[in-house]
Amino acid sequence: MKFIIATNNQKKLKELERILNPLGISAVSAREAGVSLDDVEETGTTFAENACIKAEAAFKKTGMPSVADDSGLCVDALDGRPGVFSARYGGENATDEEKNTKLLSEMKGVSKEKRTARFTCAVCCILPDGRKIEVEGNCEGSIALRPSGNGGFGYDPIFLYGDKSYALLSDAEKDSISHRGQALRKLKAELEKILK
Ligand code: IMP
Repeated sequence: MKFIIATNNQKKLKELERILNPLGISAVSAREAGVSLDDVEETGTTFAENACIKAEAAFKKTGMPSVADDSGLCVDALDGRPGVFSARYGGENATDEEKNTKLLSEMKGVSKEKRTARFTCAVCCILPDGRKIEVEGNCEGSIALRPSGNGGFGYDPIFLYGDKSYALLSDAEKDSISHRGQALRKLKAELEKILK
């Protein structure tokens, strides 16, 4: 069975492929399926809403089962920002480095105990008969005083899991504890139940 993955992000596509392939599901990006999702606006106020907006759009355009994820970083001292605006924080064209610099400057003067934060990943999967599976993964951590590590992407260098930034973890270490890894393992368990 073929599933559309509603993303243009190659990293997300690879992570989803790793989970779906052992279930006999092959993953194709929207682009590979010949449709564009560039016109889909993420107007939701929660990660779950945005994941479903993307998955439903892909299902409507292709008629194929689809999976989408929406993720981001919520910082307690910033009232949950950047949250659903994580990808657009500091403007549509801001680089990861600019986003991290902006976030660290907003956190200036915030003590270590008050720097708590979490990554969230919501995944929505629409099955061939239109049934919907929704799962979510969270990873608790804190915002570092300065960036460290060269791995990963996005906010990885400034998000501390324990005393190590996400950017210092290997891919396997990050997958085993990350918000996306947790959400995808839940999706896998749900799909296994349904497909058996
Ligand atoms: P999305 O494509 O709308 O889900 O954008 C999520 C944004 O949140 C990304 O552009 C990153 O900035 C950030 N983000 C999500 N997951 C991670 C992660 O695992 N590490 C670092 N940043 C992440």
